[in-house]
Amino acid sequence: MIFSQVELAPADPILGLTDAFKADPRDEKVNLGVGIYKDESGKTPILKAVKLAEEKLLATEMSKSYLGMEGVQAYNRAVQSLLFGADHTVVNNARALTAQAPGGTGSLRVAAEFLVRHTKSDTIWVSNPTWANHHNIFNSAGLKTKSYGYYKAETHGLDFDAMKADLEGAKEGDLVLLHGCCHNPTGIDLNEVQWQEIAELCLSKSLVPLFDFAYQGFGAGVEEDAEGLRIVASIVPELIVANSFSKNFGLYNERIGAITVVAGNDAEAVNAFSQIKSTIRASYSNPPAHGALIVSTILEDESLKLMWQQELQEMRERIAEMRALFVQSLKESGVSQDFSFISTQNGMFSFSGLNKEQVSRLKNEFGVYIVGSGRISVAGMTKTNMPNICKAIAAVL
Ligand code: PMP
Repeated sequence: MIFSQVELAPADPILGLTDAFKADPRDEKVNLGVGIYKDESGKTPILKAVKLAEEKLLATEMSKSYLGMEGVQAYNRAVQSLLFGADHTVVNNARALTAQAPGGTGSLRVAAEFLVRHTKSDTIWVSNPTWANHHNIFNSAGLKTKSYGYYKAETHGLDFDAMKADLEGAKEGDLVLLHGCCHNPTGIDLNEVQWQEIAELCLSKSLVPLFDFAYQGFGAGVEEDAEGLRIVASIVPELIVANSFSKNFGLYNERIGAITVVAGNDAEAVNAFSQIKSTIRASYSNPPAHGALIVSTILEDESLKLMWQQELQEMRERIAEMRALFVQSLKESGVSQDFSFISTQNGMFSFSGLNKEQVSRLKNEFGVYIVGSGRISVAGMTKTNMPNICKAIAAVL
């Protein structure tokens, strides 16, 4: 027998945790592993703007015929204006072309398949630490991953000098994965000046940036969070963006994202895009329509767009409130260590500094599930579960 020789794959560090969580019989258990937004009642809601867009679609959709390889055109246009704003040179000069793709993960995979075949380098630099699936996606597509310094444990902040030194050591033409905002897992982002420096460094060494942009609107706001990408796109001639609407539209299971290629001129963009379409053809042929139609219906309708922006703001503000409450509740639970850095981190996650043993005690003794790196999904915290979480953390510190 052939399949009898196949070994069991190791559990995924994040989704495997959800499986263990589901099997846990304890009532007070809480899942702060996977990055899913929960409202104050602990539910992951469908946004009102999404429901209204779906009603509209149900009434007006006339066909389920195939989309083209690049997906819904109106959606792709809307993606570009969210990424680059209303008036960016890469859009005005037709240097950016976008294809709808299945979520951030699918977009990253298509990007990796394109990069491994059509660039000089087989190496992509990723931050240390980074979202665990980055290594998985890139290695599966045939890219080697190398790490650049990013996080300084002593300061709970950015190690910008290490980041620059490591990228200075990259080979000309190497690829660099950059988190557009709300860095996963640390929640620490570059400021405007640092983005500028990284862009100049990429330009001088001919490094090709691949932006992973999965949390637009979860940091400071939709426009503010795109600042780094827009700076880099103004300085570096060639780059790729893989973006996702799983989180900011709450469309997790619709698998909706996009890959955008930016080239030096419009003709080169057309060539690069044709190869991206070939990759899509060989992977899943063409994308599913529903998620893209929801997003484009919302973004093309002023009142639905406004409603979405307000709902996104509510999510962002609730997470900020939970960060502050988390810091305060830890203090009230008798923790003397300073955790105030948690309130300055961006996005869904907090990089707590808890070690592997403490993480495993949280799970085994208290039913509090967080990722082994010490990453906590603040978006899963509520006023109700906060006291138990903090009591458990106080006990394992
Ligand atoms: N990139 C990062 C940094 C993420 O955190 C995630 C989701 N956890 C993704 C990409 C993938 O998003 P999606 O679920 O849309 O595939």
